[in-house]
Amino acid sequence: MDLIPSFSIDHTRLIPGIYESRVDTVGQDFVTTFDVRVKQPNAEPAMAPAAMHTMEHVIAMYLRNHPVWADKLVYWGPMGCLTGFYMIVKGRPAPQELYPILLEAFQYLSDFTGDVPGAKPENCGNYLLHDLPMAKWEAKKYVQYLETADRSRIFTYPIQE
Ligand SMILES: [Zn+2]
Repeated sequence: MDLIPSFSIDHTRLIPGIYESRVDTVGQDFVTTFDVRVKQPNAEPAMAPAAMHTMEHVIAMYLRNHPVWADKLVYWGPMGCLTGFYMIVKGRPAPQELYPILLEAFQYLSDFTGDVPGAKPENCGNYLLHDLPMAKWEAKKYVQYLETADRSRIFTYPIQE
């Protein structure tokens, strides 16, 4: 079997960022999957499952209520490797177009107070697996990263030669 495109990325040269990982067509329309990479794979500790779970909930709520992006968002969810999130959107926007909304979303999470949305047994498959303080810490760190990172590197995946 061929490696699917996202596995041909050289993960040893990959830095955190916002990357187009695949583009699908559904009828006449594009559906684009982005890797919202928060951690450098295999080079720093991945996120804790409870923190990621809370990040999934709070950021999903933010994006699904956003005046512009609510309608464009297909899916927001965690990567199994715990180094980032998948963001699937309608159309084929450039990763640079996602940058401001993701900055806002992670900033929103870093300032979040109150109950984690949807973290009740009726709404969530593992409602005890949440860690808001750690989710906020990770979000703040990622905001700082995105604000200071080299813009020539955080939107283009290094491909394996
Ligand atoms: Zn949940």
